[in-house]
Amino acid sequence: MPELPEVETVRRGLAPVMQGARFTKVEAHRGDLRWPLPKDFVQRLKGQTVSGLGRRAKYLLADLSSGEVLVMHLGMSGSFRVEKDSGVVTPGAYYHDRSKDLAHDHVVFRMSSGATIRFNDPRRFGSMKLVARTKLDEEPLLRELGPEPLGNEFDAAMLAAACRGKNTSLKAALLDQTVVAGLGNIYVCEAFSRALLSPKRKASTIANRNGTPNDRAVRLIDAIKKVLQEAIEAGGSSLRDHRRTDGELGMFQHNFRVYDREGQPCPTRGCKGTIKRIVQNGRSTFFCPVCQK
Ligand SMILES: [Zn+2]
Repeated sequence: MPELPEVETVRRGLAPVMQGARFTKVEAHRGDLRWPLPKDFVQRLKGQTVSGLGRRAKYLLADLSSGEVLVMHLGMSGSFRVEKDSGVVTPGAYYHDRSKDLAHDHVVFRMSSGATIRFNDPRRFGSMKLVARTKLDEEPLLRELGPEPLGNEFDAAMLAAACRGKNTSLKAALLDQTVVAGLGNIYVCEAFSRALLSPKRKASTIANRNGTPNDRAVRLIDAIKKVLQEAIEAGGSSLRDHRRTDGELGMFQHNFRVYDREGQPCPTRGCKGTIKRIVQNGRSTFFCPVCQK
């Protein structure tokens, strides 16, 4: 499943061909993705100009001249392909994957920028919804979401306050989208490794009794922000079937310290530990039991 850095990478790939451009033609090849497409989906998009392309957690938000916002989610396997009329499409392995995936091109946007944008989603857990800009705060998909992990609002004090008295694992707390939005399994594991904290630690142990943050909370916040920023700069991780919009594989997976590295030596300097995999809340956790305390 794409995580926040991948979604931000997709946003950056789409922005140059969507922002300021008009939908000249919209094709919906089926009536539903995860949910039915909005009523009159094609008509409500056609002719509209995208004034901005933003992101909230793992949702892409395209502001339309009609006053509506196109809210898009990649789900498990969704991806966008950008084709420009220059014929320069995408390099590398992408070319071979494309033909077999054509049957899963469910939505196609033709933009006045000259680009054709295809939304491909074999497993159809992705979604597209149209919401009035003025109603965005009330939108059920968005209203429960916690702060953006890269925003200034998300700091050690806020995280400690959210974890204070919590009996769950620290990992479960970070995956709770009401605590912080858009963090997933991969980057949570990576952040714990960098912060030298055990994912099994109780959430409450990053806060002092009065709810103020201790040193662990400070280290964890720092690690979360750094790992996300580095992954965005590297263009996301592109694990399994997720791809960057320009078709190039992201490179961040080469920087994983623990994720998917069971049995390999811990990369922490001076540590002789071996990466271990355990299952927490049904998801794999990778960590070094020696240096992550
Ligand atoms: Zn270690």
